[in-house]
Amino acid sequence: MKMKKILILGSTGSIGVNTLNVIRQFPERFSIAALTINTRIDLLEPQILEFKPPVVVVKDEKLAQELRKRLKIKCEVLSGIDGLIWAASQLDYDILLGAMVGFAGLAPTLEAIKRGKRIALANKETLVVGGELVTGLSRKHKAEIIPVDSEHSAIYQCLVGEKIDSVNKIIITASGGPFLHHKKEDLEKVSVKDALNHPNWKMGNKITIDSASMMNKGLEVIEAHWLFGFPKEKIEVVIHPQSIVHSMVEFIDGSIKAQIGLPDMKIPIQYALSYPERLESNFQKTCLPDIKTLTFFAPDVQKFECLDLAYQVLEAGGTAPCVLNAANEIAVDRFLNGEIKFSYIPRLINKTLEKIENHKSPDVETLFEYDKLARDLAVQL
Ligand code: NAD
Ligand code: MG
Repeated sequence: MKMKKILILGSTGSIGVNTLNVIRQFPERFSIAALTINTRIDLLEPQILEFKPPVVVVKDEKLAQELRKRLKIKCEVLSGIDGLIWAASQLDYDILLGAMVGFAGLAPTLEAIKRGKRIALANKETLVVGGELVTGLSRKHKAEIIPVDSEHSAIYQCLVGEKIDSVNKIIITASGGPFLHHKKEDLEKVSVKDALNHPNWKMGNKITIDSASMMNKGLEVIEAHWLFGFPKEKIEVVIHPQSIVHSMVEFIDGSIKAQIGLPDMKIPIQYALSYPERLESNFQKTCLPDIKTLTFFAPDVQKFECLDLAYQVLEAGGTAPCVLNAANEIAVDRFLNGEIKFSYIPRLINKTLEKIENHKSPDVETLFEYDKLARDLAVQL
């Protein structure tokens, strides 16, 4: 395998830091073309000193200026969305690791796709919002999209060497989050701290709240639809509280393949970077006797309304997933800021969806328009 240059979008986040943990192990295989972040220059600075990227992008203009003053080594510091788009569309790199959070990741990812780059995709919102557009362009420009999301990496790995028409269904596992055993009425009372306390995974705040509401699983159902092309009837969600089976594929002969391992995002990140090769790693290996029990049961969609909403917008298509995503981003922000109760998240999303008419086969301008429309509405409701 020749040396691959990686552009990381969102290097200071949970996936970004784990990506650097992978890259640190293989200095002869991977180098950093650029790191991009939103605001945390205190975290970016040591990354620059260690990985020596020729370019970094800080979205915040003022913080970019401050970083330029502070840096004692040669590294070009760009800023703003323009800087981000420039990096994705002009820089020399082989793989874009999409680890930004939310709709903001769509535009730079599209730039990389148009150049036929490999996309190692963690930023699921990009596929939720622009699935049709993103997959259409990736086919046209022969840009491979390799999922980083653990469930989708599992399904991808189970599908290697199989024919798509021998698949009966895919089975996405879900931990069920911190409120798995709460009654529906108890969700009225849960605090931000309760919701941020995920049992198995340490992740950024937005996805942690999405996991508590099970919107994360809903977004993953839509993500799976676009990545693998199965209709919603062939995408099942199963609760598996141990997060050891990362997902499964059932074939027409009744056989089920699963990909299993400890909950460690470094494994799917490394696979997305090295595929089709596997590289020997020093990550902790899975000791099955220590795990002892694996359990599975059906999700309660009466309690986790977000999961049902996601299936509904997948069926509706067009701009509905974009509106759901935007309303969810606002609802999560408002919950984290103490403005709305946890149980209001699905209600706010549902109200926003009801008020915005669907537009079929949106282009990128339409997606930006609907994203803004939905955000403005969800802020007011
Ligand atoms: P995070 O909040 O920890 O990190 C987000 C990163 O993106 C940060 O580096 C931040 O600086 C940057 N960023 C955020 N908003 C930005 C903006 N508007 N412009 C430029 N940069 C911006 O998030 P995370 O948990 O690492 O998740 C990243 C993505 O990966 C999400 O889409 C999430 O759903 C997905 N994902 C995460 C995990 C996980 O284990 N954390 C697992 C599967 C999928
Ligand atoms: Mg996941």
